[in-house]
Amino acid sequence: MTLDRTPKPAIAKSDANSDRKIVTRGGAKSIVKAGEPRTIVKRDTSDALKIIPLGGLHEIGKNTCVFEYGDEIMLLDAGLAFPTDGMHGVNIVLPDMTYLRENQHKIQGMVITHGHEDHIGGIAFHLKQIDIPVMYGPRLALALLEGKLQEAGVADRTELRRVGPRDFIRIGTHFLVEFIRNTHSMADSFTVAIHTPVGIVIHTGDFKFDHTPVDGETFDIQRLAEYGEKGVQCLISDSTNSELSGFTPSERAVFPNLEKIYMQAQGRLIITTFASSVHRVNMILELAEKYGKSVAVLGRSMLNVIAHARNLGYIKCKDETMVPINAVNRIPDNKLVILTTGSQGEPMSALTRISNQEHRQIKIREGDTVVFSANPIPGNTISVVNTIDRLMMQGAKVVYGREAGIHVSGHGCQEDQKLMIALTKPKFFLPVHGEHRMLVKHSQTAQSMGIPAENMIIIDNGDTIELRENSISKGDKVPSGIELMDTSRSGIVDDRVLKERQHLAGDGVVTVAATVGWDGKLMTRPEVHIRGVVTTLPTETLQLKLQAGMEVLLRDRWSEFARPIKDGGQVDVDWAGLQYQIERDVQRVLRREVQSSPLVVFLLQSPATPGTMGGDSVKSASDGIQSTGVIPKVRAAARVVPSFEAVNAVNSLNTVNAVNEVNTVNTVNTVNAVEAVNAVSSTVAGGATTPIVKRATRQRVTARARVNE
Ligand SMILES: [Zn+2]
Ligand SMILES: [Zn+2]
Repeated sequence: MTLDRTPKPAIAKSDANSDRKIVTRGGAKSIVKAGEPRTIVKRDTSDALKIIPLGGLHEIGKNTCVFEYGDEIMLLDAGLAFPTDGMHGVNIVLPDMTYLRENQHKIQGMVITHGHEDHIGGIAFHLKQIDIPVMYGPRLALALLEGKLQEAGVADRTELRRVGPRDFIRIGTHFLVEFIRNTHSMADSFTVAIHTPVGIVIHTGDFKFDHTPVDGETFDIQRLAEYGEKGVQCLISDSTNSELSGFTPSERAVFPNLEKIYMQAQGRLIITTFASSVHRVNMILELAEKYGKSVAVLGRSMLNVIAHARNLGYIKCKDETMVPINAVNRIPDNKLVILTTGSQGEPMSALTRISNQEHRQIKIREGDTVVFSANPIPGNTISVVNTIDRLMMQGAKVVYGREAGIHVSGHGCQEDQKLMIALTKPKFFLPVHGEHRMLVKHSQTAQSMGIPAENMIIIDNGDTIELRENSISKGDKVPSGIELMDTSRSGIVDDRVLKERQHLAGDGVVTVAATVGWDGKLMTRPEVHIRGVVTTLPTETLQLKLQAGMEVLLRDRWSEFARPIKDGGQVDVDWAGLQYQIERDVQRVLRREVQSSPLVVFLLQSPATPGTMGGDSVKSASDGIQSTGVIPKVRAAARVVPSFEAVNAVNSLNTVNAVNEVNTVNTVNTVNAVEAVNAVSSTVAGGATTPIVKRATRQRVTARARVNE
């Protein structure tokens, strides 16, 4: 038996697909045509193949795996995860890409197994930072990816190459990859066999064994068995359902239960499922046609997936079955299906908005049946049950939960996992795609089938697995944290920003502005604003206490910060030092008075040069101070020393909501003051803007640049 035989006739037809061109860039990356040698360069076999998962372990999400041999890297998938509570203003979570940034020159290309977000969702973001010359993937995944890349403006940063079942592609000189059709909740999904200098590595991708797939494309288990016969060095396998016994039922098992609901529904049917569950959507449409119902689709991701899947033939329905959402009122209730996103209770999704009575076109009414054809992902349970409650309170009948039999997983259970091991008969085994206990359980299943415990490793993100012909071991760890993205502003939310956001959300913020003259006296009562702080203390009392504290400090320690300049009778003041000292004092007073530790933004102002009080009339650098009327004619180049927090984090601080809006520049006079100073400083003779102001301005620019990069 040989792996080099020409594909079966049915598959040869797909090979003729004209849109799969030979990629010539770099000379070595191509789809290997029938008849070409399917071998790879076997160099020094003492070298190890490094397998480095950057995400997807001890979690479900952001699957990203590096295969490295010599000076070549091949990537497999690059997904995203969603934020947990406390990640304020973060929309998505990506793996730490430091290792790839540092080894960018080695990257030869990427292999994509299927189009789920936890496998392709990170790609657009990575392309902004690293070059990936070419990506090979299934047609449906690439159709979805293409849109994302265009939206992110990085479509020209890589070449997307579509592959079909049993296609071989070459990446660099050390990787030859065969795509093997598998079955999963998403259509057009693959397991891959990677031929490397140390042997064949099979990565299952996400899979279950579905012998009656909705689209008729069965798992190519013949090919897997062939590899098992020839010898598989290492199996890297999906662990999602390793805690569950038995086989995962076929997607088709859902059909009769859904059909029962179609038959019983008296009024409108509102069905929600994952947008990416192409097979499920297909059945929902099939049933609609069978029962003479029209279907309106709600939700951008649902519309997007359906459009691409129809285009590629994975969803089959007549044009007239689909109706636009603004036409639903013309259709009798018992002839209408509304297919919508929101199965996970996502706050902005159509179904959640319907349940909140905030949706423009759809209002729930008596007689509606709402169907949750998806189980909540752990972590989403509360939002899902809250949505169900609200829908019921408005009179809908809601069908949900496991007993309803309207959802099956796309991932195999223990018996599926055993079948995978039995077919491939691997020497070494790496469980992936799962939380720690799932990986452990999966490894126990493998041991029960005779793979010795020392031939498998429970790995974590960032571990380097070194695979040789006769051994598997752990090498050095690479950076493996997370990168948090605020996609509304396409920037990385680093640890410091996140901590500040948590601080704001937990304790609120207090801003204090004070003006000190060259004589070391407060020129006006400090201005205090409190947002999101729980306290019964009136602002005025706080103002008086802060004022008293500052007066004592200035009286006792002014001489430490002000030094006379020779001859001129003037003083040189260390404003930055004074700012720091007063800020510490303010923090201490606040901690004592409000019994919590709010984020403190302290702004110290002073006139530009000694003896200029009451000079030329130029607008004050601070509107706040001007409004007091105490110092109407402060020279424009007033020194403004915004605190660290003010500049870097808190550009907009309107109560706790500010946490999610941190970058909108305004309110707190801090930033205005800096801007005002910049604006007017150029007009002031002698360029009196001090180095302190310049430094503060630079800080602000840096903070912004970081958010916008
Ligand atoms: Zn998947
Ligand atoms: Zn997955």
